[in-house]
Amino acid sequence: MLVFLEISNLILQKILPVDFIESLHGLEGFREDDFLRAHATGIPPVSIRLNPFKDWEGKEKLKDAERIPWCEDGFYLAERPSFTSDPVFHAGGYYVQEASSMFLHQVLTQLGAGEPEKIAIDLCAAPGGKSTLLQSLLHSTSLLLSNEVIKTRVGVLQENILKWGFGNGIVTQSDPSRYGDAGPFADYLIVDAPCSGSGLFRKDEDAISQWSLNQVDHCSLRQKRILEQSLPALKPGGYLVYSTCSFSKKENEEIGNWLARDQGLEPVRINITANWNIVETHSEGCFGYRFYPDKLKGEGFFMAAFKKEGMGSPLFFKGKKKIGLTSPKTISEIQDFVSNADGYSLYSYAGKEVTFPSRYLSFLEWALGMFFVKQAGTVIGEMKQGELIPHHALAMSWQLHSHFPKINLNRENALQYLRRQNFELDATPGWKLLTYNHLPLGWAKVLPNRVNNYYPKEWRILNM
Ligand code: SAM
Repeated sequence: MLVFLEISNLILQKILPVDFIESLHGLEGFREDDFLRAHATGIPPVSIRLNPFKDWEGKEKLKDAERIPWCEDGFYLAERPSFTSDPVFHAGGYYVQEASSMFLHQVLTQLGAGEPEKIAIDLCAAPGGKSTLLQSLLHSTSLLLSNEVIKTRVGVLQENILKWGFGNGIVTQSDPSRYGDAGPFADYLIVDAPCSGSGLFRKDEDAISQWSLNQVDHCSLRQKRILEQSLPALKPGGYLVYSTCSFSKKENEEIGNWLARDQGLEPVRINITANWNIVETHSEGCFGYRFYPDKLKGEGFFMAAFKKEGMGSPLFFKGKKKIGLTSPKTISEIQDFVSNADGYSLYSYAGKEVTFPSRYLSFLEWALGMFFVKQAGTVIGEMKQGELIPHHALAMSWQLHSHFPKINLNRENALQYLRRQNFELDATPGWKLLTYNHLPLGWAKVLPNRVNNYYPKEWRILNM
């Protein structure tokens, strides 16, 4: 056994950078032999988070899988299936997410994020793992702003958010400083910061070759800058949740110490259960939560929570950009498509009809002047010659009228649809909602001689 460990250590010292291992010495919870063994022989678990807004035949069966103890919708899968060939995955039935990062569910639940009328910002949001988790947790009277500053990453964020089907969201592509300039308006600020990525070494070998002590320093400076620039957006009494997928103290506890010391935030302790094997760290009065792959079923991760001192007061938003409500004539033309959801308004924007929570319409008008807004609420579709061309977002949303005509596809046809291939349907002409296991997949228009496939071209399955 000893010999085995010696050998695996030697092998790993070559694979994992020596200065990386050395930089972890002395960290709370770090046990070098166990850590190296987990990196040499451990297999990263596969985990998914179910969408609480969606139901389908077979969902209950998935719940027989092993639960992730800190997230009620999270499950480990015994093996990795082909997600690409599962229509339920494309329909937003679940999100494939690393188990440790689902700890956000636990933290936010304890910080009251499920209570009514909260505004949350997910500042570094792409590809959308934390945003879809937030959407599952937030109350139907709350609002989520999901932001991604890197242009090429906004598309995947929009896709994942749209498929999750929550209507109370705004997606922006703005620099964190724009959020700070907006002043205090958020009850929760989630900063899942860009980092050196050492927590994902078991899954991503490129991260190993890119890692260096200089990179850690660089990430730490960037993390401080992002936090400093965006913190003014947090209301007094609001909570910051900071996380990374790095093991480095400079990107974790040292950032926490700086938040408490230089930014005046109050550290918040989270209740954890001993058998979860999460390591609570204590540094200059701050609490941090470390995930080591040798202690639990998950990859390396760090999270810490802080409170901004003071009491929030009611906010009023006034924007220059006025939103035009949808005309009564159009409303009557689309009433077969949309459910009459209390608390939502229909408005017309950039040629599209959109639903958005009525209580946040003036907020949206303000946000349109403040941020680069890419998407807001649920797009219902576009009116063309008195006819609604329904948008994919409506098919993915609970706001779709429950009586809309549906056609349930078998797996083969569902995959043909998702590849945007042609197939036949025995149905009367008109718009149809296609479903798989009774879960909406998207739109098709049945014509007398063919079926037009309206699955979004950019999301079609390519390699299968
Ligand atoms: N929260 C995401 C999730 O759960 O799916 C993962 C976020 S990833 C760890 C960090 C994100 O920060 C990336 O999408 C990256 O593009 C973005 N980012 C990179 N540089 C940034 C900066 N200077 N300011 C804000 N965000 C940045």
